[in-house]
Amino acid sequence: MPALAESLHEIYDEVLRRNPGEVEFHQAVHEVLDSLAPVVAKHPQYADEQVIRRLCEPERQIIFRVPWVDDDGRVQINRGFRVEFNSSLGPYKGGLRFHPSVYLGIVKFLGFEQIFKNALTGLPIGGGKGGSDFDPKGRSDGEIMRFCQSFMTELYRHIGEYTDVPAGDIGVGGREIGYLFGQYKRITNRYESGVLTGKGLTWGGSQVRTEATGYGTVFFVDEILRTRGDSMDGKTVVVSGSGNVAIYAIEKVQQLGGTVIGCSDSSGYVVDQKGIDLELLREVKETRRGRIAEYAELRGGDARFVADGSIWQLPCDVALPCATQNELSVADAETLIGNGCIAVAEGANMPCVPDAVRLLTSSGVAFAPGKAANAGGVATSALEMQQNASRDSWTFEHTEERLAVIMRNIHDRCLTTADEYGVPGNYVAGANISGFTQVADAMLALGV
Ligand code: GLU
Repeated sequence: MPALAESLHEIYDEVLRRNPGEVEFHQAVHEVLDSLAPVVAKHPQYADEQVIRRLCEPERQIIFRVPWVDDDGRVQINRGFRVEFNSSLGPYKGGLRFHPSVYLGIVKFLGFEQIFKNALTGLPIGGGKGGSDFDPKGRSDGEIMRFCQSFMTELYRHIGEYTDVPAGDIGVGGREIGYLFGQYKRITNRYESGVLTGKGLTWGGSQVRTEATGYGTVFFVDEILRTRGDSMDGKTVVVSGSGNVAIYAIEKVQQLGGTVIGCSDSSGYVVDQKGIDLELLREVKETRRGRIAEYAELRGGDARFVADGSIWQLPCDVALPCATQNELSVADAETLIGNGCIAVAEGANMPCVPDAVRLLTSSGVAFAPGKAANAGGVATSALEMQQNASRDSWTFEHTEERLAVIMRNIHDRCLTTADEYGVPGNYVAGANISGFTQVADAMLALGV
């Protein structure tokens, strides 16, 4: 990683000392601090008031035991987390991730990112994240339900519509939010719709929430292309992942006239030069909860499954990493550049390693960081909270239009800020600085 300016370097060293072994958290902090030197030079009050050091320490971290009984009657124990990182702009807001890789360092990296992402939406939401090392793969509906109920049996006392509002992330979708909300309602005897987002449409959910992260990422790319006098029409696109973010990114690319020729899961990737058949993909991944190889088998023709190697070997105009953190390496970035890729936008959180980001940016590839490009999900969660608070429910068209406007604003805000701080066209710096200054100003106003 490149050296930070001196005062920022001291803060980073302190983060390393206080959070040993939490490499993803270190990476996320370094990535933000790396953008802040011009901000501290222009506004010394942020350094004087120790705002950056305060920002790097979560306001509250909760770790709890999650005991549950599997289908064989055996007791299983998992670990639950909720990191309430920053509440200066609003209640803590951020998803829950259920995945065996989850530990405190992952939750803190995601919570830290969420602070700036949420600020960029321009909506009143603070930053938080949670989850568990529970592995939903292969678990029955009943097991998922019992796990969610146990998880909420501890979590409920820490959350609330004015306190902390969780949602989904990897491994947590509509089914899990339903079980979590059911348990919250049962324990508290309150139909407090605004306590969770990503709810079902018939019980307090918002139109477009399911689609929002994927759609928003593509709206963002569309804006990037528009500023270059180009559009999504006719573009060849590769999307990693095949979960909620990837599926709706693929749908929006197709609606805007692009062709998605590849997508993946943790077992490998599929290539389908004719364009991914979205209905079939959804059948395999959502209905059957199967592996991506089945897509190629059922699709037939030229479609093929590749078990090893990187999906980024596929030549494309636009790359949308929508799977998980650190999935796109320096070698992948080199391949993309060599193949003439013009834009990379992160649908997942921090999917590109820092050196890949630097390489892409310095090679003239437009690079949109996750905290800007994938903010549509949490922004639509905030719209869900608005609807819950006013006991209203908006149409799909109205909600999608709100999402499109929010993504356009985030895009413009990144570019304006990048210009203002002397790094024109740099979406990474624009997103970090703009998100940071908004949160930092609120922290200054609210006092130590
Ligand atoms: N997990 C999503 C994210 O990474 C959405 C969080 C939310 O809606 O609160 O932003």
